[in-house]
Amino acid sequence: MFGPVPAVVAEAVDAAGSGKNGMGARRVSEWMRAGASPAAESNAAPALSRAELKQVAIVSGKGGTGKTSIAASFAALATEKVLADCDVDAANLHLLLHPEVRQRQEFHGAKVAFRDASACRACGECERRCRFAAITREKVDVHACQGCGLCVLACPNHALALETVACGEFFLSDSRYGPMAHARLYPGGESSGRLVTEVRRHAEVMAMGANLRLILIDGPPGIGCSATAALVDVDLAVVVTEPTPAAQHDMLRLLLLLKHFGIPAAVILNKADLDDANRQSILQMCEAMGATVIAQVPFDDAVTRAIAAGRPLIEVDEGPAARAIQDAWAATCQLLECATI
Ligand code: SF4
Ligand code: SF4
Repeated sequence: MFGPVPAVVAEAVDAAGSGKNGMGARRVSEWMRAGASPAAESNAAPALSRAELKQVAIVSGKGGTGKTSIAASFAALATEKVLADCDVDAANLHLLLHPEVRQRQEFHGAKVAFRDASACRACGECERRCRFAAITREKVDVHACQGCGLCVLACPNHALALETVACGEFFLSDSRYGPMAHARLYPGGESSGRLVTEVRRHAEVMAMGANLRLILIDGPPGIGCSATAALVDVDLAVVVTEPTPAAQHDMLRLLLLLKHFGIPAAVILNKADLDDANRQSILQMCEAMGATVIAQVPFDDAVTRAIAAGRPLIEVDEGPAARAIQDAWAATCQLLECATI
């Protein structure tokens, strides 16, 4: 796991004195080439406190609504920010922003049972006790093991112990849009919420050290552990939805979650012109839930072309969808100024 991240990249970025889109900033790579010690850097006082940061999470109740496309365009529109791809189960913001990985580290999450074969007497007590069918006298199924530790206590020969396993990778990167923290969970890996928290922690350290007040978070879809981890303490959640019953159903669950945590919600209705009845229904729901609709983005072939080209839409097109996303970003900035939390 990474040590305390360098007031880091901060400098990395910052010293930057940077320009638009983070270009011209001192980059992560320069900080590393300079041989600066993360430990030493971490002793330096950050330029900003955590309370001075503004954090925006772009989220969706349902996957496939266009959340990451909009996050990529926001990344291109925002001037002074750190990016955090917290969709660790299916990270793909890098496909549009093309970060250069400067530092990578395995992430160790959940604990699972490990056996010392030399101490095992094959009595089968662990197999009898495990409620998850995760262990036999021959082997441990690390994907089925829940790390409850019962077998460790039950083994009469002290042949078992709990150990952490690598369940993903974490990256600190440079991009032409600014410094970026991102990660990927290994297939079947657990602890996605903790990995999201790690991504955010490193993004915050970078932002504080680099005097970059904004963190743009591409959050996971849904309302599970990783989505909740991406939303903790954000100043604004931008919810991306589309006019379908499934998207509306999942948006409601997300809006209820945001209401529960007292997080202001803004909604972008993507592909808004595909179904007018569902569009109206979503607008009514947003009004009832007190969520501000900041943009209705029309269906536009240019979005598909931008994705195929691996570029943020607003960089390659000036059509109706691109204009609506620019309006959404302007509205997001306004809401951030007004945010009271
Ligand atoms: S309980 Fe311990 S000694 Fe018995 S089979 Fe399991 S690991 Fe081996
Ligand atoms: S730690 Fe719990 S879940 Fe894992 S093998 Fe042991 S008893 Fe089963």
